[in-house]
Amino acid sequence: MKPIIILVQPQLPENLGAVARGMANFCLTQLRLVSPIAKSDDPRAIAMSAGAEKILEEAQIYSTLSESIADLHKVYGTTACERQMVKRYNSAKQAAVLVHKDLSESLQVGIVFGPERTGLNNDDLVLCNDLVQIPVNPEFSSLNLGQAVNVIAYECYQERLGKTIKPFLHVGESELASKGEAQSFLNELEKELDTASFWRIAHKKPIMWRNLQNIFTRSDFTKQEIRTLRGLLKIFRPSSKS
Ligand code: SAH
Repeated sequence: MKPIIILVQPQLPENLGAVARGMANFCLTQLRLVSPIAKSDDPRAIAMSAGAEKILEEAQIYSTLSESIADLHKVYGTTACERQMVKRYNSAKQAAVLVHKDLSESLQVGIVFGPERTGLNNDDLVLCNDLVQIPVNPEFSSLNLGQAVNVIAYECYQERLGKTIKPFLHVGESELASKGEAQSFLNELEKELDTASFWRIAHKKPIMWRNLQNIFTRSDFTKQEIRTLRGLLKIFRPSSKS
């Protein structure tokens, strides 16, 4: 298994081609595009891919990041600059070690890259387990999208060469929950908190809710744990008290 590269709103066809080329260089095959502005069949993308157009042809298109990661277990978000968010930051090398470990446990892994101009926004980053910041000159920290994918793909490939980490088995009930399962718990939680008027000061809800979501996305919940959490929500409903 290999990590899936996810590009959020890529703007330049040349970058799509450069991403495909770098992926092929380091044996990655699966590309997902979220609301792409650049088209993967653009001749400029195909030319830049230098023979890796199969990756572009087979790229899967999604309208939201959330949909694009619903079947994945672990998601890493890449960012050039530090954000005001309580997340673990990893270098590209550290991230490659984590990704390799995840893959050896048969987890589906996605690595997310942002739009050229703005990078990933906070709503995107909140969906990611961990962040990855390629160490670069702090005075000039933003890499070109294609180059950023290349660096990460390179590190993942080096990590994969000749390394095996004893896997922590996710079998049966201890299988890790997918992002979709975790998201449906969060949706229920939000509804319950709305009903219970948890957000006393309405305008504070977005930031409080973001913090709460971060608490949950930092953890690796198993399918059973998600079921337990959903069960837990039920005890606060008036109908179940009688
Ligand atoms: N100003 C934007 C830069 C966008 S560059 C930002 O702050 O993120 C386009 C994408 O390339 C970024 O969203 C990120 O996915 C990746 N990228 C660029 N430089 C990076 C770096 N130093 N570390 C990790 N990812 C980087």
